[in-house]
Amino acid sequence: MINKNHPRYESLLLREKIKNAYKEGYLAETAMIAHGRGEAFDYLLGEQTSYPAKRAIYAAVSLLLLSKNPVISVNGNTVALAIDDIIDLANTLNAKIEINLFYRSDERVDKIAELFKSKGFTEILGTNDDDIKYINSIENPRASASSSGIYSADVVLIPLEDGDRAELLSKTDKKTITIDLNPLSRTSMKSNISIVDNIIRAIPFMNKIAKDLKVQNISVLKDILIDYSNEDNLKDSIGSFKIKEEK
Ligand code: ATP
Ligand code: MG
Repeated sequence: MINKNHPRYESLLLREKIKNAYKEGYLAETAMIAHGRGEAFDYLLGEQTSYPAKRAIYAAVSLLLLSKNPVISVNGNTVALAIDDIIDLANTLNAKIEINLFYRSDERVDKIAELFKSKGFTEILGTNDDDIKYINSIENPRASASSSGIYSADVVLIPLEDGDRAELLSKTDKKTITIDLNPLSRTSMKSNISIVDNIIRAIPFMNKIAKDLKVQNISVLKDILIDYSNEDNLKDSIGSFKIKEEK
């Protein structure tokens, strides 16, 4: 039990969720290391959503609302930290959700699929009985995708994606949106829209903005995208990291 008065309570709670997901058997060991790297970047961000992250979120939501077949890719970390927010966002955007694990095993996939189903989200893709195809015919586990999901998607939201896969997706016509605390990762560099923020803040914020933008005229969404430059925004994201000076 974590004491609520602990100054790092929120952060410890997230660690607990990650640890429990590992114990429940759907999170790989190395995913805990990835979480630690994220923590370090978040510390430097002041554990707040920066202005450039908000700007990227507006662009990301506009792109998702304009898309024909949007898909949200989920891995173990995303499920452990944000399953409820992911389901809410998918419902608001009318997007599909696809399980996509770096260390894929039938057992992990089944456990994650069960979690979604237990929360009433039954249309989960990327399961063991889904029709899996290979992007650009590359017979590699990093290129596998559900035929009605990522394989045929025009826009893919890839929170915490691995660089190999982000790079592969960038070579297709699909537009990719990532949420990654590291602005220098290959994933952030290769995506069309890079949200440098913690998924636990970014996903609920995206949902809020999606509800607002959904009722706007399509031209408003298009204008947001025209005004957005991911290259400039990534530079601004790097500028949001503050190193505190000790006095
Ligand atoms: P890449 O594969 O893109 O070159 P990498 O190999 O350094 O990057 P991975 O281990 O593949 O990184 O993925 C983990 C990434 O997820 C890290 O960049 C880390 O900062 C980020 N990350 C971890 N936890 C979170 C979180 N809760 N929210 C957002 N990003 C996170
Ligand atoms: Mg990687």
